[in-house]
Amino acid sequence: MAISRILIANRGEIALRVHRAAHEMGIETVAVHSTADADAMHVRLADQAVCIGPPSATDSYLNMAAIISAAEISNADAVHPGYGFLSENAKFAEIVEAHGLKWIGPKPEHIRTMGDKVAAKKSAGELGLPLVPGSDGAVSDYDEARLIAADIGYPVIIKAASGGGGRGMKVCPSEDQLETLMKQAGSEAKSAFGDDTVYIEKYLGNPRHIEFQIFGDGEGNAIHLGERDCSLQRRHQKVLEEAPSPVISADERARMGKVCADAMAAMGYRGAGTIEFLWENGEFYFIEMNTRLQVEHPVTEAITGVDLVREQIRIADGKPLSVTQDELRFAGHSIECRINAENAFTFAPSPGLVTSYHAAGGMHVRVDSGLYAGYRIPPYYDSMIAKLIVYGRTREGCIMRLKRALEEMVVEGVQTSIPLHQELIRQDDFLNGDYTIKWLEEWLAERDA
Ligand code: ADP
Repeated sequence: MAISRILIANRGEIALRVHRAAHEMGIETVAVHSTADADAMHVRLADQAVCIGPPSATDSYLNMAAIISAAEISNADAVHPGYGFLSENAKFAEIVEAHGLKWIGPKPEHIRTMGDKVAAKKSAGELGLPLVPGSDGAVSDYDEARLIAADIGYPVIIKAASGGGGRGMKVCPSEDQLETLMKQAGSEAKSAFGDDTVYIEKYLGNPRHIEFQIFGDGEGNAIHLGERDCSLQRRHQKVLEEAPSPVISADERARMGKVCADAMAAMGYRGAGTIEFLWENGEFYFIEMNTRLQVEHPVTEAITGVDLVREQIRIADGKPLSVTQDELRFAGHSIECRINAENAFTFAPSPGLVTSYHAAGGMHVRVDSGLYAGYRIPPYYDSMIAKLIVYGRTREGCIMRLKRALEEMVVEGVQTSIPLHQELIRQDDFLNGDYTIKWLEEWLAERDA
């Protein structure tokens, strides 16, 4: 039976994004929400809505029993997890499938493998993806660590196998600090993730973050949809993303994209995924794979014309990929700004009542957001309130359009990061595409000095 009603296990702009793709396919949607989100746009637009708990995400958007019950009472036949929350929880994916619902996501075993960094790296290596030189799996003993570090050369980075959000990571400049830093990383990882397993990698001094969007049909066919450059980050959080990357040539895209697609085909990967690399001196180094849709997926949609959520739903429904690699064309340039409810200088969160709202518009301007005048941004969740995505035939044209669109955006009542983006896109280094993962923090440090 084809999917006819999707429960969207998420909130905010991503819940709206899934709703829109579903409705365009003639599929009904069921929103779930916490008590804090009763007035949210994703609840208003969905065909049905079910309250799944109090504001705390643990008791609502992460509450598997409540979400499965909501799917049963609403007679949904599929679940889309969005990003964040339960999207990379293999157990949840298994429970969804065990209830006879279609999981709009990768196979649970692939979510599990890629969620464990040591297993992910091992599997990436076996699939032919280039790795950061380092230990072959977990390192428990100091003597072994010393030999590995001496072999790859300092500085090295000690990372937690169950890590995430940059926690349990230590950069080690020289051998005399290795033992201490290994102990620190292990105990930090133990308290954050309940697992003190660590591994070692060469520390790359000044790389870019470049990721490839891939799609598999679960039957051994896979395609890539090019790369995104997400080097502009603050505290490992992406701020602005663009596609294509200013430093990747068409040949390099085709070559590396094929390596990624072939790896996913060999794995029998199903659905959307992102393979993240650090890129330095023309070389790619795998760091992790995200087994879900990404926040920044619209820039890929803009340059390929492929609706990635529609594609996810089709694959979950057992249909083939709607485009072949040969049919895919990359055209133009796209940039996404993540607009957060926060002070543009101190980054302090700024939830509260939105008194006035006007979204930018015009040709090739897309705003993904659940904002409206009179909406109260709750303090309990992520501070991202809108994504502004623009497209242009060239990078220069795209930046001019972005500048114009940022001028048009009006969000009053709360503070937003719009002024940060306006300042950022005027910088020469940005205009020249000349930035790495360190650039934004260095620029902010100089600006605030
Ligand atoms: P997490 O899952 O905790 O976010 P990642 O492995 O994705 O961890 O790494 C997060 C960030 O840490 C990267 O985007 C990069 O900025 C930095 N990083 C990770 N590994 C390395 C490395 N080998 N060399 C330099 N920087 C690294």
